[in-house]
Amino acid sequence: MTGPFLVRLGFADDGTPASHAVPSHYPADVAVPQLSVLDLGATRGDGIFETISLGNGHLQALEPHLARFAHSAAMLDLPTPNAAQWRAAIVEVAAHLVDSLGKPVDEGFVKIVMTRGVEGGSGSLLPGATAPTGWALAAVAPDHGPARRNGIRVILLDRGYRHDIAQTSPWLLAGAKTLSYAINRGVYREAARRDADDALFVSSDGYLLEGAVSNLVLKRGQTLLTPRTDLGILAGTTQADIYTWAAGRGFATEYSLLTVDDLTGADAAWLVSSGRHAAPIRAIDGVERAIDAELTSEINAYLHARRE
Ligand code: PLP
Repeated sequence: MTGPFLVRLGFADDGTPASHAVPSHYPADVAVPQLSVLDLGATRGDGIFETISLGNGHLQALEPHLARFAHSAAMLDLPTPNAAQWRAAIVEVAAHLVDSLGKPVDEGFVKIVMTRGVEGGSGSLLPGATAPTGWALAAVAPDHGPARRNGIRVILLDRGYRHDIAQTSPWLLAGAKTLSYAINRGVYREAARRDADDALFVSSDGYLLEGAVSNLVLKRGQTLLTPRTDLGILAGTTQADIYTWAAGRGFATEYSLLTVDDLTGADAAWLVSSGRHAAPIRAIDGVERAIDAELTSEINAYLHARRE
């Protein structure tokens, strides 16, 4: 069997890596319950996570993921994740993900989670909680081939926030990758109800934001465009890598305020993310649009071949 594989992280009460009694990280059995029913990650969605793709055994965009993890922790007033501790846990769990011949799997992922800990404990930044709970889990990726090849049908959904929410209402934590993803999952059910595959959020004042778990990239002529990262959205690691590829390929790149007209008028559009990579948008609210299959496979070949 190829995974999933799990390691638990050990923390001192102040969230720093445990040093003596508990190792910095240790293997755990994914088939055995691991979490207290009082864990604030489970009871309140109070925690953060990242999902790092693995291409042929290589952790892709690992450092940007760790940087975003630290940014999310700071936004939630969680202890600063010790990058060396998390990196070691991620590398360890990823190394287990091999096929029956001992070769790294073609596509996998490592999910890392840090919660505020167990309610009622002691020593945390939040009165009444323990040190954080943390783990890293490696598993084989689902087959994203059909979405990458055939494209996805997307609906536009009002997020109910203005585009400047990150500045006006930072307490809403827009732009942190928190465990509170019930909405991000619920929009898939809404998409399915409308005979679509995915959703793209639009601000209440009409600006394109992000997908449920992805960023938007548009192509207009020789320019790639993506919504500005100060719009209460996640700064995407995949989008950033696509921009690196684009620069080497002679495309100009922009972070912009984009509207629905920019989307419908674009030559090509993708939802991009660590797991699925670039999924071309083939319909918007039921209206079919062209996909650029050649450019999509070029982008995805680049993303798959990343070595860090
Ligand atoms: N936006 C949201 C809300 C996400 O959850 C994600 C990733 O899961 C992304 C964007 C894309 O980020 P990345 O490319 O780093 O996976």
